[in-house]
Amino acid sequence: MLRTPFRKLSASRVLLTPPFQRWFSQETSKLEGKVALITGAASGIGKETAIKFINNGAKVVLADIQADPGRLGPNAAFVPCDVTKESDISDAVDFAVSEFGHLDIMYNNAGIACRTPPSIVDLDMATFDRTMAINVRGVVAGIKHGARVMIPRQRGCILCTASVTGMMGGLAQHAYSVSKSGVIGVVRSMASEMCKHGIRVNCISPMAIPTPFVMDEIREYYPGVDPGRLAKMVSDFSALKGAACEPSDIANAALFLASDDAKFVSGHNLVVDGAFTAFKNLTLPTIDQLS
Ligand code: NAD
Repeated sequence: MLRTPFRKLSASRVLLTPPFQRWFSQETSKLEGKVALITGAASGIGKETAIKFINNGAKVVLADIQADPGRLGPNAAFVPCDVTKESDISDAVDFAVSEFGHLDIMYNNAGIACRTPPSIVDLDMATFDRTMAINVRGVVAGIKHGARVMIPRQRGCILCTASVTGMMGGLAQHAYSVSKSGVIGVVRSMASEMCKHGIRVNCISPMAIPTPFVMDEIREYYPGVDPGRLAKMVSDFSALKGAACEPSDIANAALFLASDDAKFVSGHNLVVDGAFTAFKNLTLPTIDQLS
């Protein structure tokens, strides 16, 4: 029987089937034999990274409050997980170990935007608490339980998704900015302890990407504006002309950090922003330019 090299995942995405993955061994074996758990993996950056990891030889557990993103092949499994519940995270880690034997990569990626008025004097503290519960406490709990199974093996890699909004003020609402600067601080603090166990801890700070998370947020403020134009506005934030930040850019950064190519990189915030935070950018588009 003729074997097809591709498994169709959706209208626009295919996965190489295992025998044919060897054609691209240079490109596709960076995570051979590794097991990863990714939170917030049903959509956007998390889903893109899951596919990238699988295509590089990893077995991946996708964890999310949203429904199973669909079959990604025999090297993927889905577990329902709300990162605000420590028991869900603990169960997801145990599931990864029981399903695939061990855990090499814990990627704490789940996060939410926060819908609250921009001024501190109007800040809704319940929204602040919820944002911190998912974006910071969820990350800390993920590191705690990832470390629980990695320390006995004296190896592992922990990744988190921070944001450029955690590096500069004024790019997002206070609660979100504070939560993401918290992630960068968490990574440095945890890396200091995990070093002695041979476990690397890093985060990635993406620039704006028009994922559902960002589009829902912007649509809240500009309900009448065409989604395509909003997506273009987000892409136009790019200071690096000719390129826009995409989920695949973050997946590539995660692949580097998770692989042995980054064996001496820990406590690092890998900024993927086309130099946005490197200089004073006076050319940011405004919503007025859309009309
Ligand atoms: P997304 O909305 O496509 O994905 C976020 C995922 O997190 C969703 O699948 C959602 O169901 C899941 N999630 C939300 N709350 C959860 C919970 N309590 N438990 C488990 N899963 C939960 O958005 P994205 O852009 O892919 O976001 C991924 C990460 O990237 C987030 O941490 C976000 O803060 C960060 N980030 C995004 C951007 C951007 O512009 N898109 C920029 C910087 C950082």
